[in-house]
Amino acid sequence: MPGEGEFKPFHSGEVPRYQEIATFMRAARAEIAPPLEIALVGVPLDLGATYRVGARHGPSAVREASRLIRQVNPATGVAPFQLCKVADVGDAPTDPLDVVRSVALVQGFFERIQAAGAAPVVMGGDHTVPLPVLRAIARERPIGLIQFDAHGDVFDEFMGSRINHATFVRRGIEEGLIEPARSIQIGLRGTRYGADDLDYSRAAGIRVVTIDDYEELGRDRVIAAIRDALRDGPAYVTFDVDGLDPSAAPGTGVPEPGGLAMRDSQVMLRALTGLEVIGGDVCEVAPPLDPTGITCINAANLMFETLCLVAAAKAARRPG
Ligand code: MN
Ligand code: MN
Repeated sequence: MPGEGEFKPFHSGEVPRYQEIATFMRAARAEIAPPLEIALVGVPLDLGATYRVGARHGPSAVREASRLIRQVNPATGVAPFQLCKVADVGDAPTDPLDVVRSVALVQGFFERIQAAGAAPVVMGGDHTVPLPVLRAIARERPIGLIQFDAHGDVFDEFMGSRINHATFVRRGIEEGLIEPARSIQIGLRGTRYGADDLDYSRAAGIRVVTIDDYEELGRDRVIAAIRDALRDGPAYVTFDVDGLDPSAAPGTGVPEPGGLAMRDSQVMLRALTGLEVIGGDVCEVAPPLDPTGITCINAANLMFETLCLVAAAKAARRPG
């Protein structure tokens, strides 16, 4: 059994990986309290989605899809459960009829995690989710944002709503949570409302790597651009699964053809090992739109990469 308080996941050589109730990567369940160091958290919220919904089912499906993931990163050697006390703390509370109230409830949950000294690794939920997470963890100083996404999420409002999955980056900058000069968006593409859709990002000082830029630069130079943008200081990684090509992630609300490969995404994330990644999320996984389950499998593996980054950063900076 995974021991509560011992932070040990099930060992799949002892308990078959299809057995028992799913936590992320079969992690132990734990309360939000010291000595927990990394909290795996679901946020089953999709009231901020402007097109196809279903991301409220993301956390439970990503947990199911994570059963196969083994504990050691094959490229970096990072073993998050050996480096840190990691547990699945369950889902943040939400109100399925009220997005603004939900965001407040989610923020409160992440404030508890922050107060306990744990770093969050988050399963969304639509891409509204990072806003309350950042409100909880970046209140004292803005942090650099590494955003993989088909979209910039920098609109001011959508049909009068200022809190939704297309506005979280702009709100984060306005609220002093995101440091634009230390932020980068990768994979942007898709048809636009107008030529000025990404002007806000560029004017704010965010580095914008469209999918065309990505092709022109190549993966290694994009990795260098990310590291150059973030430099030293705290960073938060947010992966909107629609950044992946829809062939790798059909189960998402706003699919845009011509996107990132899963392989390239893994390599880019692994190359960020050593940055001060204080949290991260994988959002916009909509299981009802994912008939083969491939979106959930890929999202679970992106979660693992994010967990490895946070664990490496946490272990390297552990006080004492
Ligand atoms: Mn998107
Ligand atoms: Mn997004």
